[in-house]
Amino acid sequence: MDNIAGNVLGTLVVVLVILFIIFLILRELFCWYWKINESVGLLHEIRDLLAKNQALAVPQGGQARAGMKRCPDCNESNTADTRFCTNCGRDLSAPQTLPSASISM
Ligand SMILES: [Zn+2]
Repeated sequence: MDNIAGNVLGTLVVVLVILFIIFLILRELFCWYWKINESVGLLHEIRDLLAKNQALAVPQGGQARAGMKRCPDCNESNTADTRFCTNCGRDLSAPQTLPSASISM
């Protein structure tokens, strides 16, 4: 009786180990096929580059914060590095005297 229970337990352990090995192999195959490891590597690269970019941009942003850009259309104040108005979407990179200049022409 005890021998049979031990035998069943041993078989169960062996089956579990084999299933685990099959799982690991299929996992590796799946990762290779869908290029998951490559994608994760690229995502890490993107994250590192973004962090580097942000670290470089911080002094500039802090400096520009003193001079907020005011939207000529809706008078909304935007940060100086904003390209488009957060309120009306106007292109803030364009020269602000453009509308009056075009009217005078
Ligand atoms: Zn605006």
